[in-house]
Amino acid sequence: MEKASVFIQAIVLSFVAVMAQAGGAPFYGDPPDAHHPWAIHDRNRPQPPRVEPGPIQPCPQPADAILLFDGTASSLTNWVPEKEGRELKWIVRDGALECVPRTGSICSKAEFGDCRLHIEWAAPKEVVGVSQEPGNSGIFLDGKVEIQVLDNYNNPTYADGFACSIYGVCPPLANALRPSGEFQQIDITFRRPIYKDGKCIDPGYVTETCNGVLVLDKAQLEGPTGHKTRTKPGSLPEMGPLKLQDHRCAVRFRNIWYQPLPAREPEAGIHGPLSVEATAAQRKATAVRIREDAAKISNNPLEQMLRYAEALVYEKDDATCQKVEQLATQYLEELKKIPANKLSAQKSKARSVLQVFRYLAKHKIISSDFGPCKELETLAHTQGWDKDLK
Ligand code: MG
Repeated sequence: MEKASVFIQAIVLSFVAVMAQAGGAPFYGDPPDAHHPWAIHDRNRPQPPRVEPGPIQPCPQPADAILLFDGTASSLTNWVPEKEGRELKWIVRDGALECVPRTGSICSKAEFGDCRLHIEWAAPKEVVGVSQEPGNSGIFLDGKVEIQVLDNYNNPTYADGFACSIYGVCPPLANALRPSGEFQQIDITFRRPIYKDGKCIDPGYVTETCNGVLVLDKAQLEGPTGHKTRTKPGSLPEMGPLKLQDHRCAVRFRNIWYQPLPAREPEAGIHGPLSVEATAAQRKATAVRIREDAAKISNNPLEQMLRYAEALVYEKDDATCQKVEQLATQYLEELKKIPANKLSAQKSKARSVLQVFRYLAKHKIISSDFGPCKELETLAHTQGWDKDLK
């Protein structure tokens, strides 16, 4: 009996050791399903291939970026503990924001949604443990989606928990990490899912580079990330903090800034052409703006005519067509009044107007027998102005 107990204990210990080294196991996270050929944290999923990054380059924040940490103790005030009522115990040392293990995760005070984020992190130089142990932290976008921080320079783990992965969802395309203790430069483009009337219009995605190497290429989101469990696609908060995880490792962060990205409307056509309705609406809005501009032009009928003609490119309406015709006719009348010996001064302008008419006719925005166009064609031909005119 005692022998059997020892035997079972040995099996359990060896199983735990294998799990720790390989990371993940067939019976660890949720199993494969109809849309996912791998289990969550599947040790059979291939490791990201090694890609040697280029030399480190400074990446200063652009003028429109919002600073979250610039290496100074004062920028620590941009952060709060994740759990209310706790004291922020992370420290600023040598220009880096350092996790003090077991003091809790921290969140930016700023909340934001779609963004481009730049962040640099360094795992401790001394590698302690294997798989998910050394240099573990996390960059949580919108406070919900973890981009893994882990020292995988020379440390395999389950692929969907590798550094730069969307944790539990998508492994990175490459292992482009620098050696333990060195800073990794991470740039992330984060797009939240878009839901309309309860229907997913766009699942959202993350694009990421690590040390200049593309590691996530519009990787699709599957809702908030989790551990061992397969998360379900779903909406995310409109805005959320950037969370940095305390995973019991003294990981350091520096040079953290983001640029908010313009919100996408459901009709924004992220993955294809706009709908007919959205296109018509956008074209109409542009035409209205141009017509308003045209209406303000005084004492220059030609310029006004050209601006109204421009509006027709976006939206063809009878009233604007009539205005264009009326102003174009007026222009032709004025042109005809100019004495023959002074007409050549009008050549350049007349050629431009003729080009506009030809463009509009070619694209069937005006008819091919548009009166002013035919008249100008005749005049231009007589004067030899149409030579080489396309
Ligand atoms: Mg983590």
